[in-house]
Amino acid sequence: MPRKVKEWIGKKPGSIPPVSVKLRIDKRETKDDHPICHICGTAIKVGESKHYDHKEELRKETEVTGPLNRESNIFPTHAACNTSKAVIDNKIKAKENRQRARHTGVKKPKGKIQSPGFAKSEKRTKIDKSAMPALGFRPMFKVKT
Ligand SMILES: [Zn+2]
Repeated sequence: MPRKVKEWIGKKPGSIPPVSVKLRIDKRETKDDHPICHICGTAIKVGESKHYDHKEELRKETEVTGPLNRESNIFPTHAACNTSKAVIDNKIKAKENRQRARHTGVKKPKGKIQSPGFAKSEKRTKIDKSAMPALGFRPMFKVKT
């Protein structure tokens, strides 16, 4: 029976796992000799640049979830997959921050200055067409005979 290895837990949210832990993560997520990217689900081939990503975001860390910078929450990804995910995550975070700032009143909404607008015009009176002379039928084109 293999020896149980204690799970690595980062001392700080920014702590980077040592190489031995990265190798264990790769081994855990390996299928057919290649670690599997947890974002796109395809194999990370030798030579492809690789990142290690927290599956559960670190900012969601609470006393209930415990530290999320831990071995079981870290998964290998393609560098490109992780970068594109980070861009989307940052956009979502920025939006949440904007909404929170407005909601809590930290940031006042940019109210537009309301102008008095144009004066109301009189309503146009409808023309009584029955009083006009009939124009009669006028063909759109002439037919050659
Ligand atoms: Zn990928």
